[in-house]
Amino acid sequence: MTKEEIVVANFRGFAPQIPQNVMLLAVSKTVDEQIIKAVYDEGQRDFAENKVQDLVRKFENLPKDINWHFIGHLQTNKVKQIIPFVTLIHGVDSLRLLATIDKEAHKIDRVVDCLFEMHIATEESKFGLTTAALRDILESDEFAKLKNVRVCGLMGMATFTDETDMVIQEFALLKKYFDDVKKDFFADVNYFKELSMGMSGDYQLAIEAGSTIVRIGTTIFGERR
Ligand SMILES: *Cc1c(COP(=O)(O)O)cnc(C)c1O
Repeated sequence: MTKEEIVVANFRGFAPQIPQNVMLLAVSKTVDEQIIKAVYDEGQRDFAENKVQDLVRKFENLPKDINWHFIGHLQTNKVKQIIPFVTLIHGVDSLRLLATIDKEAHKIDRVVDCLFEMHIATEESKFGLTTAALRDILESDEFAKLKNVRVCGLMGMATFTDETDMVIQEFALLKKYFDDVKKDFFADVNYFKELSMGMSGDYQLAIEAGSTIVRIGTTIFGERR
């Protein structure tokens, strides 16, 4: 079998396991364009990258009806390059970054959808905001002035561990953050509805905990180079 055929077989076996109401986001970082195209030809439309340069190149070379998500750590000086076409920015972890996205989106008269990244992992290495920091942002005058970003929900990453109980607790915590923030800040809007959690190793636990978007790389595309 060719690499494309292997990936397509993986995808056909895996995609039906994701419930209809959960988005399967194919994490195509480091994956070659012809392999992404093979998965596109199976009907997949949502793909995610974690490097601006790769996202821009793949956007240019692949079909224009792909919804491109950004899942990495986004530097403010690179925001401008993805604003014209990005579907959803998953990892916003500061007001400064959100304000930069807003400024660049304003220049081209777009409203860009974003998720705040929350720190839920017991591991210290993971990024993300504390709930106190998120509340400070949402209560600020500066946030109230941003008209070209739309906060659609939260994103988070659990600890990379075999300890199922720990992962279950972390996802439950993120779901609680989501419910609390929705109630306190977004009760009147319908767009605050996304909870991006779950990767190849823990997506089933994430779906049980209320995920609306699972970000899957390895299970579809194989181990990364
Ligand atoms: C790479 C990555 C994923 C996908 O991870 P897999 O374990 O390969 O499914 C999901 N989310 C983020 C933020 C990533 O960087």
